[in-house]
Amino acid sequence: MTTVTKNVKISGVGMHLGLPVNMVVMPSKKPGIFFKRTDIKDSELIPATFDNVCDTMLRSTQIGEKNGANVRTIEHLMAVLFLLGIDSAVIEIDGPEVPFLDGSAFELYKLLEKFVSDKTHMRKIVVKKTVEIKSADLIKTLPFVQRVVAKIFSRRITTDGFVKIEPYNNGLLIDAILDYNNKIIGTQSCSYIFDGSKTSVKDFVDNIAKSRSFGGYAEWEWVKKHGMGRGCNLHNVIAINARWDATMNKLYYPDEFVRHKVIDILGDMFTAGGFLCGWVQSYKGSHALNNLLLRKLFSDKSNYEIVEQTKKSSK
Ligand SMILES: [Zn+2]
Repeated sequence: MTTVTKNVKISGVGMHLGLPVNMVVMPSKKPGIFFKRTDIKDSELIPATFDNVCDTMLRSTQIGEKNGANVRTIEHLMAVLFLLGIDSAVIEIDGPEVPFLDGSAFELYKLLEKFVSDKTHMRKIVVKKTVEIKSADLIKTLPFVQRVVAKIFSRRITTDGFVKIEPYNNGLLIDAILDYNNKIIGTQSCSYIFDGSKTSVKDFVDNIAKSRSFGGYAEWEWVKKHGMGRGCNLHNVIAINARWDATMNKLYYPDEFVRHKVIDILGDMFTAGGFLCGWVQSYKGSHALNNLLLRKLFSDKSNYEIVEQTKKSSK
């Protein structure tokens, strides 16, 4: 197991509610990543695992009980913990959302990288069979009313999106594709391999970690009025103009949009509870698809094999 060497306090505001939140990433001897809401009396430890994901709407991943103790927007933090090899920690938090900070994984990475205990290999979950989830499967899982609303109102619900995982022996390979019918994003793809080596971590930090999520600026006022996106600003989110042909803030990379997808996928895949070894292909993917993929993968024991490793990492 690998944990943190001391309590690491991280404060900021949450992405949706925009309220101040304090989080402490604490050393732990128990395997797994757990959240604990300190503002809720007798809140129990919430394991950050795929089977505990209770909501994936609002473009973020939420764990816990839907209307009880839960924590939203865990994905960027989960991606950073995974990259640092931290597979054991208790995260105390005094609100319902992880601090959004710079909207990417970079600041979280910088805050945590110096406090990683001696590394041991993480438990590997090796994919043995191809598993796929299509957007059409996802829509079928929504309650009837949401299904109708999604079809009528959302421009983004597409039926040709999918996320797939295939066997791949050299680590976690991610191929993400975005395909938007607009000038500013259009079709973008990004490929990233994490094999546990320092080189693959450096590749992430140098080329992916700073990427932010995006949204249409014209929708912001409406979204904020409805209690969402209040922690978003022109530093931590890419804002796109009303015609969807230009950004209102400077991009770190022309394809920053799809690079951010890789962060989200890494974070969501770490809710598998270890180092998932496989080839993830995401086309118009989402947190909801990622979660359904893991649920399907783990629903059949012949889809995967768990390899426990206790030796110290040589890398
Ligand atoms: Zn994200």
